Amino acid sequence: MSSTPSVADLFETLDYGPAPESAERARAWLEARGGRFGHFIDGAWTEVGTDTFTTFNPADGTALAEVTQGSPEDVDRAVAAAKAAFRGWARSSGHVRARYLYALGRQIQKHSRLFAVLETLDNGKPIRESRDLDIPLVARHFHHHAGWAQILGDALPHHRPLGVVGQIIPWNFPLLMLAWKVAPALATGNTVVLKPAEFTSLTALLFARLCQGVGLPPGVVNIVTGDGRTGAALVRHPDVAKIAFTGSTEVGRIIRRETAGSGKRISLELGGKSPFVVFDDADLDSVVEGVVDAIWFNQGQVCCAGSRILVHEGTAALLENRLRARMEKLRMGDPLDKAVDMGAIIAPVQLEQIQKLVEQGRAEGATIWQPSWSPPREGSFYPPTLCTGVEPSGTLAQVEIFGPVVVLMTFRTPAEAVEMANDTRYGLAASVWTENVNLALDVAPKIRAGTVWLNCTNLFDAASGFGGYRESGFGREGGIEGLREYLKPAWEVEDRERPAGVVAGAEVGEGLFADLEEPGVPEGGSGEWEGNPVEGGGNGAAAGRTPPLDRTPKLFIGGKQVRPDEGYSLQIRGPDARVLGEVPRGNRKDIRNAVEAARGAQPRWGGATAHLRSQVLYYLGENLEARAHDLAGLIQDVTGGNPDEAMAEVAAAVDRCFTFAAWADKWDGRVHGTPFRNVTLAMPEPLGVLGIVCTDAFPLLGLVGTLAPVLSMGNAVVAVPSRSGGLVASSLYSVLETSDIPDGVVNLVTGEPDELTPVLAGHDDVDGLWHFGGPAAGEVVERLSVGNMKRTWVARGARRPWITLRPGEAQEFLEQATQIKNIWVPYGE
Ligand code: ADP
Repeated sequence: MSSTPSVADLFETLDYGPAPESAERARAWLEARGGRFGHFIDGAWTEVGTDTFTTFNPADGTALAEVTQGSPEDVDRAVAAAKAAFRGWARSSGHVRARYLYALGRQIQKHSRLFAVLETLDNGKPIRESRDLDIPLVARHFHHHAGWAQILGDALPHHRPLGVVGQIIPWNFPLLMLAWKVAPALATGNTVVLKPAEFTSLTALLFARLCQGVGLPPGVVNIVTGDGRTGAALVRHPDVAKIAFTGSTEVGRIIRRETAGSGKRISLELGGKSPFVVFDDADLDSVVEGVVDAIWFNQGQVCCAGSRILVHEGTAALLENRLRARMEKLRMGDPLDKAVDMGAIIAPVQLEQIQKLVEQGRAEGATIWQPSWSPPREGSFYPPTLCTGVEPSGTLAQVEIFGPVVVLMTFRTPAEAVEMANDTRYGLAASVWTENVNLALDVAPKIRAGTVWLNCTNLFDAASGFGGYRESGFGREGGIEGLREYLKPAWEVEDRERPAGVVAGAEVGEGLFADLEEPGVPEGGSGEWEGNPVEGGGNGAAAGRTPPLDRTPKLFIGGKQVRPDEGYSLQIRGPDARVLGEVPRGNRKDIRNAVEAARGAQPRWGGATAHLRSQVLYYLGENLEARAHDLAGLIQDVTGGNPDEAMAEVAAAVDRCFTFAAWADKWDGRVHGTPFRNVTLAMPEPLGVLGIVCTDAFPLLGLVGTLAPVLSMGNAVVAVPSRSGGLVASSLYSVLETSDIPDGVVNLVTGEPDELTPVLAGHDDVDGLWHFGGPAAGEVVERLSVGNMKRTWVARGARRPWITLRPGEAQEFLEQATQIKNIWVPYGE
């Protein structure tokens, strides 16, 4: 009997026949290059190295090409080329950069099928996805960022590019991740060294060919292939100003540790275990298709994959049945077949990892369900898998599987749904399904994730930021929030050329980027303070003043003045060696208590209206002013400065309260213009509990000037005043108590900052840490932050003039006090 079905049979079954996309041209492109590739450095191809590796087609295990393993010397050459190209590229007009980006976008469109087929060959994803999603989105990113390049001077006039940017990307969306990184970097005037993932280098190499084609100046984009060792060399390179990384949380941690204290900026887009929350009034047909997109798109190898279905218990059985029926109909096979839903897993090693985790789940008691059909035997395939009976703490519910495996768990109430959604160390994305807009918009802000999709999932666009909360990393890609990741404030550049302590004026220079310095990492400094701007001007005014009354300051925790855990005090002396008083020497336990108090207080403070927070800040300013003379006297004692300087510091602290009270209800989100029938609400949210280690350059302003922005955005704070600033801080307790700041929102732990900083940095319930100390302690902050991947801002305190905020500087504080959540709300039919 022939196995070919007749037309009549086909009408009966409505089965798909094979619809293969030809790989001929993509293979010809590889063959024309002998199937061997060097790196793309300084606008030219390097010789194929002696150390090469093979890149395979995951669908059949056949070899596609030989790619060079980048050595540290290769990385060196690429960085040197990027460094040499930086000045010219950054100084080129936005219009010039826009033209190049536009050309790259157009070129990708013109060669879209070649890119799509090559991507599918190298990665194993269905051609339907590479052709209809990845590549169009790649072009969209270049076009969108061509626009940003054009208007950058208007949109972000107080910012400058960073220099050479090292970019390290994963294999799940090879060209798309390249676009997410290269487009904003180039738009903002940076130059790039990009390392593709070792499994999927080919489309990056084809992209390099486009860069040549459009005449991009040599060195602006460099592509060095290789594995993690090549990535590590890039991370370590001293002339790299920023590392942009997408990949595993594990490697993200390595990069955080490796760059700690180097002055390099980093953005990390890491793992996830995203919840997919289904309420009982959700449209189940849409939900089922949503699950297909959430977890079977790209075989579930998606960092934001909706891998945990949380469904109302009354709906669970129905949903489970419908999902099983849908899973039976999914088509898995040759990724080049245009009618295939699911392709291959990237490599045997990843396949084994998926198998191992699923078996572990089974051993823990989970029920594992897979459709009756079998996946192809050749190549790396794994069937769609639905797991039930999983404990919330079980492996399948907690570990990122990075495969087509979803767990289904139930909840009873919206509060329980939120709790389960947040029961993860990650916070990349979530989707929420309900026909009740009130419920959706109530739940979305409560889920701790960088993106929340309402009644949709896995939507991405260049106009919207994407990135994580918590251990999913920090930084955003896309939208204006993503653009800022590639820029630094103009005054960081200006300050380097200006003697310390001189305040920058409002002028930023005529030509955009006219004041660029050479690229690279800001010089490390000596590890010491670089001089106190108000010191040295001392006129010995302290002599002859009435000595301060001996006071017994305590710590300020949970709205109360409390004794320190240990009975030690620190003697504080003025610059003239006179003993000014004592402050308690807080310890680890005091910090822990303070964090606990802050955590308890934050939800209400963060949930209060911006108007209320601004009222509290105005009131704080008012109460500070009422104490101006006392505070100025104390400042004078501590710094040895003159009365005018001390009064100026108090005045600046009052001003700062007013400034951030003003901003409290004006640091708006945006509605991003994503090209879908939806609004994408970019909402700034507080980080949560923020630690602040204050500068010792300004005992009062170093504290109040950081508290004000942090409080205005709804964070709770654990602040460590500078050693000598502790005396000033402890005199503020009564001001704080009378300013209507709710108990626990501000906590002050005095003592030795060098002892307390590591405790704050290593505390896993602190969401962010600002450090205004020297580079040595800054290194500690960054290195110890890896536990929960807290966001750190190591801003060298002495460099800031503090007394006056420069243009755009208030916004910098506000950015650092918030993280953007993008909520996608579709509308219409
Ligand atoms: P995944 O689990 O998605 O493969 P990885 O984090 O292992 O993610 O890899 C993502 C990217 O990071 C790849 O390009 C890989 O080569 C690179 N990489 C791996 N280890 C390191 C390292 N130690 N330093 C820098 N880059 C690395």
